[in-house]
Amino acid sequence: MRILVTGGAGFIGSHLCERLLGEGHEVVCLDNFFTGTKNNISHLLDNHSFELIRHDITEPILLEVDRIYNFACPASPVHYQYNPVKTVKTSVMGTINMLGMAKRVRARILQASTSEVYGDPQIHPQTEDYWGNVNPIGIRSCYDEGKRVAETLMMDYHRQNGVDVRIIRIFNTYGPKMAENDGRVVSNFITQALRGEDITVYGEGNQTRSFCYVSDLVEGIVRMMGCENFIGPVNLGNPTETTILEFAEKIINLTGSSSKIIFKPLPADDPKQRQPDISLAGEKLAWEPVVSVEEGLKKTIDYFSSLMV
Ligand code: NAD
Ligand code: UDP
Repeated sequence: MRILVTGGAGFIGSHLCERLLGEGHEVVCLDNFFTGTKNNISHLLDNHSFELIRHDITEPILLEVDRIYNFACPASPVHYQYNPVKTVKTSVMGTINMLGMAKRVRARILQASTSEVYGDPQIHPQTEDYWGNVNPIGIRSCYDEGKRVAETLMMDYHRQNGVDVRIIRIFNTYGPKMAENDGRVVSNFITQALRGEDITVYGEGNQTRSFCYVSDLVEGIVRMMGCENFIGPVNLGNPTETTILEFAEKIINLTGSSSKIIFKPLPADDPKQRQPDISLAGEKLAWEPVVSVEEGLKKTIDYFSSLMV
């Protein structure tokens, strides 16, 4: 198949391009390089089945493809808050453009949604039938509400135009090729630990997250795209939950760092707890993560160490 991956030069997108090429598909990687880099995909450029297009999904584009993975959108709070209006445009206008393409060429389209559609959740762990607790006017809204509208657009193009859609809600994912400077907790803590700098825990560190290794996520993504009778939304994430303070301690142990933990103000609207209920993914996709947090973190630490040599 010829498969379009928007945001294909980003962290998750570049792993997905690799996986799809490995399965023998033709891959068209589309990216505006806002947060993605050519380094993430440079090793694929010699592959005749790989094509790179510099393009912004907020502008229309005509392509003929069989499948579309719509992953273009900055994912780290620091990046998506840098130009919040653009973040909304990417999720709304960008998703409309990709849905228009899917409709025109009758391609199946999978939308990378997020656990952020649950906002600061009042039920725990989060199931797909929970409608969320999102502040519509806060500093995270450009991302959260953008992704919620993207889900709405997917469902309306499906109901109104019969577009073949899939929706996944990705929970915090980490691994090699995350941007070193993206401000997310995994990249921050690992680079701080490796440099012997203070580890910056926001708030008291009692907020929780559940971290999924990227190869596990990619497996779930590909299974969902291939699923015939289920459009989602489906949660994809690792249910192993940890407080951010415990996570900082784990990184210090795994790196053998002499870094100290310091506390900084908690950003506005930072969700207090987050853990995916992945029963639906188990039932519909026979999917569950297999990489332990220790194993995944070791690979990620090796990656960041190699960048610092
Ligand atoms: P990333 O920032 O590494 O990748 C995003 C990619 O999209 C980058 O290559 C960027 O240059 C590109 N991009 C951004 N705006 C664009 C535009 N207007 N036109 C074309 N390209 C554009 O982030 P990631 O972690 O790889 O996330 C990928 C997707 O998965 C995003 O849609 C994100 O919302 C979603 N997601 C990620 C996580 C996570 O934990 N990593 C969690 C939930 C959802
Ligand atoms: N965080 C932290 N220190 C950092 C970066 C992030 O304590 O240097 C916290 C952040 O406040 C949040 C959690 O770690 O509670 C996860 O943050 P991230 O930006 O990775 O993703 P989020 O899940 O908030 O989108």
